[in-house]
Amino acid sequence: GKPMCECNSCYVGADCSHFLDGCIADADSGDPLFLEPFWMKNAASSAVVVAGWHRMSYSFRDSHTRTSNELENHIRLLHAVIGNAVTEGRYIVIGVGSTQLLSAAVHALSPNGSASPAKLYKAQTKYFNSEDSKWQGDTSLWENSTSLSKNTTDTSATFVEFVTSPNNPDGKLMKAVLDGSSVKTIYDHAYYWPHFTAIEAPADENVMIFTLSKVTGHAGSRFGWAVVKDKDVYERIAQYINLNILVATHDTQLRALKLLSVALKGGGKELFGFGYKAMRHRWKKLSRSLSKSSRFSLQNLEPMYCTYFEEVTGPSPAYAWLKCEREEDKDCHEVLKSAGIIGREGSVFGAESRYVRLSLLKGQDDFDWLLERIDALVSQEYGSR
Ligand code: PMP
Repeated sequence: GKPMCECNSCYVGADCSHFLDGCIADADSGDPLFLEPFWMKNAASSAVVVAGWHRMSYSFRDSHTRTSNELENHIRLLHAVIGNAVTEGRYIVIGVGSTQLLSAAVHALSPNGSASPAKLYKAQTKYFNSEDSKWQGDTSLWENSTSLSKNTTDTSATFVEFVTSPNNPDGKLMKAVLDGSSVKTIYDHAYYWPHFTAIEAPADENVMIFTLSKVTGHAGSRFGWAVVKDKDVYERIAQYINLNILVATHDTQLRALKLLSVALKGGGKELFGFGYKAMRHRWKKLSRSLSKSSRFSLQNLEPMYCTYFEEVTGPSPAYAWLKCEREEDKDCHEVLKSAGIIGREGSVFGAESRYVRLSLLKGQDDFDWLLERIDALVSQEYGSR
């Protein structure tokens, strides 16, 4: 039941110190439901109806391709309008979310049947330990490591570095750490959209990966794309996808096309204006709450000039990268949990357990509840003075 007195709603008892079981603010997953109100407002124009006879074939009947040309054009147009990636003269390959494309790209960049598998760097690679690749660590934690020779004596191996930019968890724009002819880089640009960061310039890397999940918020549709410079790499990625699933589902392609056409309305200003405002507002509110605390701190993000909005924009990251400052709060995840907040442990991202990632991109109720729990936790610092 609900508490009856003026205690914060997760607490009961005469001194409001008893925490109600099940009263949890879940800020663990990166479910992008912050965009749900936008799609509710655009419900009719974004709806897709598919007749039973429609799109039954493996290929598109008119073009015999496996990706709709119109969809590919919409993807290119979106990048041109937002100015976040160069797509002219580049190949585009679609897959089941960026998750599948990240695997495909690792496969494409790993040496074929080589005795020494590709060495992988950066967090996601824990999913990719396989015959042709092995996870090696986080390059951003290597000191002064711009050259591979400082970290390995193995010069014959292929190295694959993941660069997640903006970074998950802290939202900072990142550059590759490794260089050299044996290094291949995969740029995960899942969050390189005006909702989450200022757009600096069109990204122009060899392999760049994007996902519908974080642009329109349709994570459940499982739709991502890679923008690839090199024809051979493109073909190897496409071959992996074909062997895996034959064709990216036409139903999802149809939905993605519809969603992107709405996303492009008014030069994207409706969707991206909404997304940026929502994320900016959340960051401001959380920052304000935590500015009263000396026990917890947030990552520092600076305002930057955004070429899309053509003005300086304040930080609007997808996640808060919270640090527990007190010596005794070594297990920050546990500290938050006992206050009814579930985040994701810093160790998942290769960081100390003093850090926790809090998702800011869930639904409004989830965020409001998180903020309420944070305020209650911070107010304890004053209560015990
Ligand atoms: N890359 C990054 C950096 C992510 O945070 C996520 C999901 N949160 C993904 C890729 C996977 O996205 P999806 O498979 O839904 O495209």
